[in-house]
Amino acid sequence: MTTNRYAETAPDVESIRADFPILRTQVNDSPLVYLDNAATTQKPRPVIEALTRYYETYNANIHRGLHTLSEQATAEYESARDRTAAFINAAQSHEVIFTKGTTDAINLVARAWGDSNVTSGDEIILTEIEHHSNLVPWQMLAHRRGEQLRFIPTDPEGHVDLVEFEKMLGKRTRIVAITHMSNVLGVITPVAELIRIAHANGIPVLVDAAQSVPHMRVDVQELDADFVAFSGHKMLGPTGIGILYGKESILNAMDPFIGGGSMIRVVELHESSWAGLPERFEGGTPNIAGAIGLGAAVDYINQIGINNITAHEMSLTDYALQQLHDLDSVRIFGPPDTANRGGVISFAVGEIHPHDIGTLLDTDGIAVRAGHHCAQPLMRKLEVPATVRASIYLYNTTDEIAQLVASISRAKEFFDGA
Ligand code: PMP
Repeated sequence: MTTNRYAETAPDVESIRADFPILRTQVNDSPLVYLDNAATTQKPRPVIEALTRYYETYNANIHRGLHTLSEQATAEYESARDRTAAFINAAQSHEVIFTKGTTDAINLVARAWGDSNVTSGDEIILTEIEHHSNLVPWQMLAHRRGEQLRFIPTDPEGHVDLVEFEKMLGKRTRIVAITHMSNVLGVITPVAELIRIAHANGIPVLVDAAQSVPHMRVDVQELDADFVAFSGHKMLGPTGIGILYGKESILNAMDPFIGGGSMIRVVELHESSWAGLPERFEGGTPNIAGAIGLGAAVDYINQIGINNITAHEMSLTDYALQQLHDLDSVRIFGPPDTANRGGVISFAVGEIHPHDIGTLLDTDGIAVRAGHHCAQPLMRKLEVPATVRASIYLYNTTDEIAQLVASISRAKEFFDGA
């Protein structure tokens, strides 16, 4: 048996685990082994406490009331924006728009930016490895505006072909929208290079960072990304809160998508004018608790250090890939080693249906995802109906990976004997 080459030094996983009450749960009489982090992550006590504190001590609507609680809620909501903006190194806090999540953020761009910048015959460039969230909104825009979707070729591990990409750019290309890390293959796309090439041709780029921001340092200014979308619940925060980062100049030129309270400057009976950033894109009462919870999640990640989290995950990913590779029957999708990938590991076990593997792992208390992972075109490209996916985060341990591998071996024996 190969051993883990990396020492589990930083971060101190046992003390991190103590912060996550759910990790003490038993599932089917076994301790929970939670390896479904690409779907959603667990919440540490400081995040849960931030939500409770808001509801128990200063619950109020924001930006409106002049009373003390409203002022406190507003200050905490805006502070969460500031800390999230700093986390991704946005130049200004108002470039960070609170949304419901990645899906909501990309739909906002496809509507608010797309409807006024895309016309019939234009082109939008995506890849075949996109999550449905970064595909369907552009298809819907195509139905409204008549543009064409084009797809950058990718190899079987999901690496994009930069040479072909450059050739695809033309006068009618309006935007490039691409995932930073595939939620199926784990592959990291060369977004910095893609952005450089796109910008050299005057074309903006949206980055679906749902799987990258929680796991690796993402600096929006260094990348020079025009839009970046991600979700709070995949980075230790609550569900129902996410971020659309947009460059100030682009956001300022966009009309709002959701009309209503808070996003206006002056409302007449027949006309209205819009508020500035970020309110223009946050019509209605927002997810105040969610934003405050996300702020606490950002603090938690900062306290451990995003680079330490990446190092820990890469150590476990390396170990998991080695161990899975050693199982004859396992086919791993995506890059076979840790170069250019994150801790999302999709695989198949012989001819056994992924759902059956998922069910058997669950009997051992191991939570993985089995399915198409909201990437049906990619499943077709891989010529599989579904995959099993184990995805790693800061609280996972080498021992949990060993349990996963042992459970897969048992599942294989069970089906071989059946
Ligand atoms: N893009 C990617 C790459 C994802 O992994 C996900 C979530 N699985 C999404 C977008 C959508 O995120 P949400 O459901 O939080 O909107």
